[in-house]
Amino acid sequence: MPQCDLSFDCVLQFTRYQLFMNFVRYYPIAGLAFLVLYIWKRKSLWAYKIQDKLPKWEHISREIKQSAVTLVVFSFVGVFVFVLSKMGYLPIKVYRDAEKFGGFPWMIASFVLLTIWHETWFYWAHRLMHHKKIYPHVHLMHHKSVNPTPIAAYNFHWIEAFVEVLYLPIFLCVVPVYFKVMIFHTFYAMILNIIWHFGFEFLPKGFASHPIFKWISTSTHHNMHHQKFNGNYGLYFNFWDRVMGTNFPNYESYYDTVVEKRNLPITKEIPSFAIEEKEVSSLGLGTGKSNT
Ligand SMILES: [Zn+2]
Ligand SMILES: [Zn+2]
Repeated sequence: MPQCDLSFDCVLQFTRYQLFMNFVRYYPIAGLAFLVLYIWKRKSLWAYKIQDKLPKWEHISREIKQSAVTLVVFSFVGVFVFVLSKMGYLPIKVYRDAEKFGGFPWMIASFVLLTIWHETWFYWAHRLMHHKKIYPHVHLMHHKSVNPTPIAAYNFHWIEAFVEVLYLPIFLCVVPVYFKVMIFHTFYAMILNIIWHFGFEFLPKGFASHPIFKWISTSTHHNMHHQKFNGNYGLYFNFWDRVMGTNFPNYESYYDTVVEKRNLPITKEIPSFAIEEKEVSSLGLGTGKSNT
């Protein structure tokens, strides 16, 4: 991250850094997850698929394009906050010196606080997004993916992207954080978001009803939200949904049904993307159905 006095060059440098960091982190990781789960290992991992169908390419292509909108919004909010704090309008404290404020214990404590705050912000912002006057104009974009892929993680309308990312500057204005903690937190948040949109469940049976682990979210938890809309609003944890009674009543039993599918023989043909068949046909290799 550039450390410079406020000037046009400095802002330009910071903008480039933000865009580069956001794009370079997201697309290769979400893209790799998509390639492994949906193309390369689809057949061998199909028993882990939450919904027994593939999303259409038009949805995947929207997820890819709309994620770019989100990444641009995230980057420009970062630039705006950087400029305002350089001008002295925001009391943001991001430390680089390891001993400046509590050292390692504070690194851990601030990470925990930031995670709890992010979960709380996300849950309530998400519920607001489901308000009937807001949903069709903003959050519907995210819910166009009824059968999400890893690339749906940042498939947000720009207004939602803006609201979602505000939790970070608000926190930084109140609580001092080390730069490394902030970067690690945003990376971890992105990875979990991608995992919850896998469309595949890899956690073991009983996880969603385990006395301790039930407080952590799962891919199935968020996948149900994409299938049924009005419930399962949480992000990392299943805390607010349990406290507020907004989990779908059949979440735990549906989770176990999804996991138990792994032990059953696959009787139906594993679907393939229509585009693959078109590509085969365009190569003059016939249109025989591919089941890989
Ligand atoms: Zn989602
Ligand atoms: Zn939603």
